[in-house]
Amino acid sequence: MNTQLMISSILRNAEDNFPEVEMVSVTADYPRHRQTYSDFGKRCRRLANLLVSLNAEFGDRIGTLAWNDHRHMELYYAVSGSGMVCHTINPRLFPEQISYIINHAGDKILFVDVLVMPLLEALKEHLTKVEKIVVLTNKENMPDTSFSNVLCYEELLSNQSENYEWPEFDENTASGLCYTSGTTGNPKGVIYSHRSTIIHSLAGALPDVTCASNMETTLPIVPMFHVNAWGAPYAALMVGMKMVLPGPKMADGETLHDLITTENVTFSSGVPTIWLALLDYLESTKKIVPTLRRVSVGGAACPRIIIERFKEEHNCTVIQGWGMTETSPLGTVFSIKKGMENLSEEEVIDLQCLQGRGVFGIEMCIVDENNEELPWDGIAFGSLKVKGPWVAKSYYGLSETPGSDECPVDEKGWFETGDVASITPEGYLQITDRTKDVIKSGGEWISSIEIENAAVNHADVAEAAVIGRYHPKWTERPLLIIVSRPEKSLTKENVLNFLGERLHKMAMPDDVVFVDELPHTATGKINKLGLREMFEEYQFPNI
Ligand code: ADP
Repeated sequence: MNTQLMISSILRNAEDNFPEVEMVSVTADYPRHRQTYSDFGKRCRRLANLLVSLNAEFGDRIGTLAWNDHRHMELYYAVSGSGMVCHTINPRLFPEQISYIINHAGDKILFVDVLVMPLLEALKEHLTKVEKIVVLTNKENMPDTSFSNVLCYEELLSNQSENYEWPEFDENTASGLCYTSGTTGNPKGVIYSHRSTIIHSLAGALPDVTCASNMETTLPIVPMFHVNAWGAPYAALMVGMKMVLPGPKMADGETLHDLITTENVTFSSGVPTIWLALLDYLESTKKIVPTLRRVSVGGAACPRIIIERFKEEHNCTVIQGWGMTETSPLGTVFSIKKGMENLSEEEVIDLQCLQGRGVFGIEMCIVDENNEELPWDGIAFGSLKVKGPWVAKSYYGLSETPGSDECPVDEKGWFETGDVASITPEGYLQITDRTKDVIKSGGEWISSIEIENAAVNHADVAEAAVIGRYHPKWTERPLLIIVSRPEKSLTKENVLNFLGERLHKMAMPDDVVFVDELPHTATGKINKLGLREMFEEYQFPNI
């Protein structure tokens, strides 16, 4: 049958096959909200009716400024399911980026978490196109506001019918929209379709990817405003996996530990910064997470220490993956291959430190400066390109002509990731840098990620970042910037001695400086652009 791949079909599947499975959330108005997939389906249909009553039409962009919770899940399904575009907006962006994104997308209605309302108030005069703002809370918790067009989510929902027929339409219709945080220039919008979302979710659930199943309980810590929480909202309902959603408490070790242990979470996903914080919390409180079996880590290179500590302290396996907003985000994911069963623990950790191997649906290649393909030998490295049914072919509102400045796809149809990588003969990807972060020293490329990873393995280093700085002889040399752990007296000599045993001479940083904190992007990654601005005037000693 030529059945269209519709996001609403995932919801129907969850209601039919897993009506009793729970979705548990932390929200500002409920310390722990519980509903089943059966309840969830009914609320999604009420929400679809609500959208119609608010005059939302097919193709309209509906913005969300919300954390990971059941209401945000309802928006994911009801907005896309009824033919509108669910535009997830990151509340942690700079205010001017948020208003730019809302206006650029032309969002008609905004659904906003009560905790984000003060932020929105500050943007009031810039939000000229938004017709309605719906606050994701109940009547008792509605905030005072100066907006005249504000409505209460629970109040509206309670007035709607549970009867709604999900429409079927072309599977290539836009279902979601997410802007990249835009480390350079304005944020750029990536459109997902019903088709790309479903195929991506199917691939993401495979045994060698996340091995999603009805027997698992997942805690997506990666925000739902960041690349669809890596696809968890769809994959979970596809396989009937219980969901535990941390709401605004994503960075709170105590809440995360409590959720993991009381809800029996077996699988979780997040960026490295989250895991370092959780591991430190668990160590300092002497707590454990016995049910947690696997965590997926991505968004930035996963330091070896995270993999080792999860294994040694919690008997939990780290699955590193690589991807980007433009790849939905699944690109490559770690799993061992047949014939590797007898590798030592150390050798397996070496593999986990790479960015994983190809997943069906994503083709990849690396090319040199002349766009010539490089071999998969684990040595040659060059610009990484990918293609596949869930990779963006253009940015929202920008040129779709391959090879043009605004289009990320080259003339041969490959998406240019902006990452520099090598690929081992077994097909494991190793990201060495982003094109713009790579340090060019005397004609050689030095990987900032390699130096950062070596530095964070020092027990007294809390965070490390490397940027290239001007050097009269070499053009650029690495500068290592460190945040040390509280009450540790690290010195430059300590750090250099430690790195001397782990890095080539060429990759040794020319200087080490200590700071109280590093700038981070809205998704918790180290903000290299911000760092370069901080150290704009910096000069290496003895030059
Ligand atoms: P941005 O960081 O631009 O806001 P994304 O979240 O889409 O947007 O980031 C994608 C980028 O993150 C990739 O191009 C890559 O540079 C980096 N990245 C993602 N996963 C990994 C990983 N496992 N190891 C190293 N870098 C990664």
